[in-house]
Parts: sequence; structure tokens; C-alpha cells
Amino acid sequence: MVGTAPSHALDSVYVLGVRVDRQTRLQTIERIDQLILNRRAGQNQCQQVVTVNPEFVMMAQRDATFRMCINQAALVVPDGMGIVWATYLLGKPTPERVTGTDTLPELARLCADKGYRLYLLGAAPGVAEIAAERLRELAPGLQIAGTYAGSPDVAEEEAIIERIRAAQADVLCVAYGAPAQELWIYRNQARLPVAVAIGVGGAFDFLSGRQKRAPKLMRRIGLEWLFRLYREPRRWRRMLALPQFAIKVLLRGRG
Ligand code: UDP
Repeated sequence: MVGTAPSHALDSVYVLGVRVDRQTRLQTIERIDQLILNRRAGQNQCQQVVTVNPEFVMMAQRDATFRMCINQAALVVPDGMGIVWATYLLGKPTPERVTGTDTLPELARLCADKGYRLYLLGAAPGVAEIAAERLRELAPGLQIAGTYAGSPDVAEEEAIIERIRAAQADVLCVAYGAPAQELWIYRNQARLPVAVAIGVGGAFDFLSGRQKRAPKLMRRIGLEWLFRLYREPRRWRRMLALPQFAIKVLLRGRG
């Protein structure tokens, strides 16, 4: 299935019914900047940014709410070589991978330059604090509004949102893994006291050094998933989504 999203100005491609915007990393940062400026001008409620990989697309085949959550987002970027590959196959290629882990330091630099305040929510206790320290090194002058592990439990939502409100953050990064983090943002979007909220998966684990990232070469040739499988074998079941995704795109891609 391929097409262009009707309700927003972005150039998008649909991979098995899931929207992907054809944005570079730089354009992604520029768009986030614009969303924050819009919010400061009093225009918008919180806007969601989603980084989509093949596992997301496969989850979205079974979960209509998750699919809706992705497709309504202000920005959907291709996290994962499988997505970039699928968009090539569909004849509307995305220019490059835009992963949460790579985008976070660039987002931190934007925040440092413009005085936007960043809040890091999620990961195991203590991890977001170390990730925040690392981001401050990478983006001198960065204001971390707050860090909190919390949990994606509905019962905790109210208290977490109060913390974020008190911290006066502009941008919220949520690391609860997919789809919990995206659905958490989607459920709470109307009352989230930030301009932009983005699910970042394991980004705090990588930034803090708690998890090792695949070597650059492996990332470049699209084998980051293999490295992750080697480091975290418990992911094997989730990763079955990758060949299923490839087969589905090949069979139905142009649908
Ligand atoms: N996580 C969390 N609370 C939960 C489940 C997960 O804080 O209830 C965190 C976990 O510690 C990790 C991140 O969410 O930092 C998920 O990372 P993963 O690499 O699994 O992300 P994904 O591959 O789903 O994007």
C-alpha cells in the first residue's frame, strides 16, 4: 500500500498501512523545533513523534489503536533499515534512518541552543539520570527539566503528569519500549504539559552505557538487529517480526 497522507503537509509513504514521513534527521529536528514554537505561540496541544521500525508495523497489523496512534502523529520517522528498504521498494524512498538513539543527542543540542527544557521519562531507576548527564556533555547548556523512571501503568499516569507539569518541560522523551511508550503518549496527549513527546525505546540504556550499541559498520549495512539479538537473545520472539515484515512487504507492498 502506498499513498500520501491527506491531512498534513508532510510527504509520507504508507508501509502496510503505517505512515512513514520522508524526512532526514535534520528535517526531523527542524520540525520538532517548529512544533515547539507553535506550542509557545499557543497553537497546539502536545504533538507526538514516533520512530517506526518493522516490529511497529507488524504490531500495527494486529492492533488498530496502535496503528491509529502512529498515523495521527505529528511526525513519523523511519527507525530501522527494514523501513527504509520497504519505502525504496514502494518507490517512495525515505532519505535515511532516523533512530531515537541517534536523534536524542541532536534534539538535546536543539534544546540547548533554543533554551527548551527536556524531560527524560522511563528506563530502569537511575538510568535516565546517567543518560541526562551524557546528554549534558554532548549538548553543553542543556536544561534537563527532570528525570523519572516511573512505569507505563495507568495508575501512575496522573502522578507522572504532575511531575512533568511541575518541571515545566518543553520536550518529553519516553522510554517504556514499544508499543507501551507510544500508547502512553497517545492516551495522555490532550493533557500532557509539553510541546512534543517522543518514544525513544532503549535510547537511555544506550546513552548511559547500560547497553552496548552495534558497531557503526553493522548499523550502516542494516545489521543492528543481529547485534541486538546477540546481546539480548530474549528478543528472539519479537524479532520474528522482521522476516514476517519482509515477506509481507514483498507480497503485499504495492497492494
Ligand atoms: N521500560 C521501562 N518500564 C517498563 C518496560 C520497559 O522503563 O515497564 C524501559 C526499559 O528499561 C528500556 C526501555 O523501556 O529502557 C525499552 O527498551 P527496548 O530496547 O526494549 O525498546 P524497544 O526495542 O521496544 O524500542
